[in-house]
Amino acid sequence: MPDTSKILQLLDGAESLGRLRSREDAYREASGTVLRFLGARHALLYKVAADREGLQVHPLGWRIADEDDDYWLSGDSMLPSFDPGALLLDCYRSDDACSLHCVDGDWTVVFAIGPHLRANWLLEIHASSRPSDLELGAIATFLRCFRNQQEQWDYANLDTLTKLLNRKTFEESFDRLIDRAAHAQYERLMSRGPVELTRPCWLGVIDIDHFKRINDGYGHLFGDEVLLRVAELMRRSFRASDRLFRFGGEEFVAMIYHADDEVITGIFDRFRLAVETHQFPQIDQVTCSIGFTRIDPSRLPAELLGQADEALYYSKENGRNRTSQYESLVAQGLLHAAQENVSAAHQAEADIFFD
Ligand code: GH3
Ligand code: MG
Ligand code: MG
Repeated sequence: MPDTSKILQLLDGAESLGRLRSREDAYREASGTVLRFLGARHALLYKVAADREGLQVHPLGWRIADEDDDYWLSGDSMLPSFDPGALLLDCYRSDDACSLHCVDGDWTVVFAIGPHLRANWLLEIHASSRPSDLELGAIATFLRCFRNQQEQWDYANLDTLTKLLNRKTFEESFDRLIDRAAHAQYERLMSRGPVELTRPCWLGVIDIDHFKRINDGYGHLFGDEVLLRVAELMRRSFRASDRLFRFGGEEFVAMIYHADDEVITGIFDRFRLAVETHQFPQIDQVTCSIGFTRIDPSRLPAELLGQADEALYYSKENGRNRTSQYESLVAQGLLHAAQENVSAAHQAEADIFFD
């Protein structure tokens, strides 16, 4: 029978889940709570994705007992998937959402979090003794609290159609983007830190070309299908650590972390080409226009969004289906006064948003 203080730990953990605002904090808290409750050594959390090729498992992070030394990927970002071993598969398929395995006195316990055969996460715990059935039952209840909290998080933060981040979460993510860009700038000046983290960050605005024609010509259902597929192409084209938003209608935003000046146009163009060459049902071809800017951490978020928007409008006014960088347009003297007015309107819109 688990003692009362341990049960209180679980309750505390469940209560604090409801107060956490970021996904990674919830991942850390949920894994840490189970780890402490079982007095176990370490925990690993995986995201599960079932597709036509089978079950793919992505590590999200790990936590080690009594150490701050844990590692979590931010937001929805994930390490590359791997084929789940027998133990993870067994747990995913098991009716009671839990698998136990013992080798030389080392216990591995895996919990499937989510409906039977549709679990969204697997939590793997390594302990030196077998948890009691009562402890396993208590953890299962705690993990249901975690799952409910995640569903609420999705409801509040994801766009219902595309499941990309929604506009509401943009400001919070922007603070993080500015922090990372400022840190990168500092490390660059000091010529230290891992090269990867000294690279600048970027903000891109993506708008589907002539989307109204798609809606008018094929109906809103086809329009929605295009939005879904464009969102999926975004997920596939950008890195898992980048942040992707549906900003409204047929406009999307990508926050790109730590990429060199030499490659950034290629990164956005790879996505633009993926859309141009994608076979959309019924519709011959869909294209999009892109504008992006380098994150200068001394600038206001509304200014940066305005710059990316100006570059987008340049792309729109110069043939569409193209990618433009604000800084190079300015350097080439290609942003005209007329466009200043267009951007002023967008700036005003952005100002309202950041008020
Ligand atoms: P441009 O190349 O200049 O961007 O032209 P456009 O037609 O894409 O731009 P415009 O802003 O004129 O039209 C956007 C259209 O997007 C208007 C609206 O009918 C459609 N739209 C907005 N939200 C949704 C949605 O959630 N689903 C669907 N199917 N259509 C939407
Ligand atoms: Mg459009
Ligand atoms: Mg638009």
